[in-house]
Amino acid sequence: MITISHLTKSFTDPDGSVLQVLKDVNCVINPGEVITVIGPSGSGKSTLLKALNLLDPPTGGSIIFDGEDILAKGYPVHKMRQRVGMVFQDFNLFGHMTVLENVIYAPCKIKKMDIAQAREMGLTLLRKVGLMEKADAYPSSLSGGQKQRVAIARCLAMEPEVILFDEPTSSLDPTMVGEVLSVIRHLAKDGMTMLIVTHEMKFARDVSTRIFYMQDGVIYEDGTPEQIFETPRRSATKAFVQRIRKAVFEVGSHDFDFLNMESHIRQFCIKYNIAEKSDNALVLCKKVVRNIMSDYFPMTIRITHSELSEVTALDFMVENLDKSPLEGADPARVEEIRSLCHKIIEEPTSRGFRVKLLI
Ligand code: ADP
Ligand code: MG
Repeated sequence: MITISHLTKSFTDPDGSVLQVLKDVNCVINPGEVITVIGPSGSGKSTLLKALNLLDPPTGGSIIFDGEDILAKGYPVHKMRQRVGMVFQDFNLFGHMTVLENVIYAPCKIKKMDIAQAREMGLTLLRKVGLMEKADAYPSSLSGGQKQRVAIARCLAMEPEVILFDEPTSSLDPTMVGEVLSVIRHLAKDGMTMLIVTHEMKFARDVSTRIFYMQDGVIYEDGTPEQIFETPRRSATKAFVQRIRKAVFEVGSHDFDFLNMESHIRQFCIKYNIAEKSDNALVLCKKVVRNIMSDYFPMTIRITHSELSEVTALDFMVENLDKSPLEGADPARVEEIRSLCHKIIEEPTSRGFRVKLLI
């Protein structure tokens, strides 16, 4: 369907320096494929999508779409835009139009679709994304998740052959990520060809037929979700997919600013979509520090989260200690901790001892 060869894109700064963002991108996208594009920020993911629908044309290489060279001089850009839809992070809805008007604007204006027919199609699409009821509402009255679903319906209204999503859930409140991903999952089931840039690793693993791991302006590794997530061939891919998010706090004494740590832990949980774990994490921190390890300062408290395995842990580490602080603690209090987490791991480290709670 789409063959990309030796694609390059560079930006020239006002001072004349050249930044090469896409260095040599090569890939083939087949009909019905759901490809997620992952990779560190700045690796060129958005630039690749924008090159694909000619929003920001590449500086070199070729893109062949159904046998046609879309970078050839004179290729009608609007034709490509109709065939390739794009959904952005920040919705870009027209605020002065109702939801339905947003959805049918382009088909009426560009495809000259009859208004009655367009309305019917618009309502069908809104039903598909669960927003039939909001047809006459204005975007300002919608939640972020609803706005993004309208944006998806609007994109579908042009009957694209391919849809490009650029971090469609990144600007959403964590509670709304699921509803948008669920709409994308449905599109995948319907056989829509899609290229999705996302940081949602679990979603990427579940929904994709293929994953592109981008780094430094190239598709550094390309494979099935199993390959990329379980047996990546290259070490940078492995490091990226297995990366563990963490926040670390050095607690010197009881005078430590625990309130500040609390807000950091909350932010951490929101950022990595585990908001539902934050109350528990905070209760456990308090109970361990007050009831079990109150004589073990200084200690290091760490919260870690692996997006791939979805394991979240709270570590309490003390240097120069060779046995578990739980041994001398009140058994009832240890039992209480045990009941609040999945598992307690007590283990020596190279410098001391660690109590790890899986939450
Ligand atoms: P990603 O989406 O993977 O985070 P981008 O494709 O947005 O990465 O950007 C890759 C690099 O290109 C970044 O270093 C960014 O600063 C640079 N870049 C993107 N757009 C422009 C632009 N219009 N002008 C100059 N540099 C840009
Ligand atoms: Mg981007």
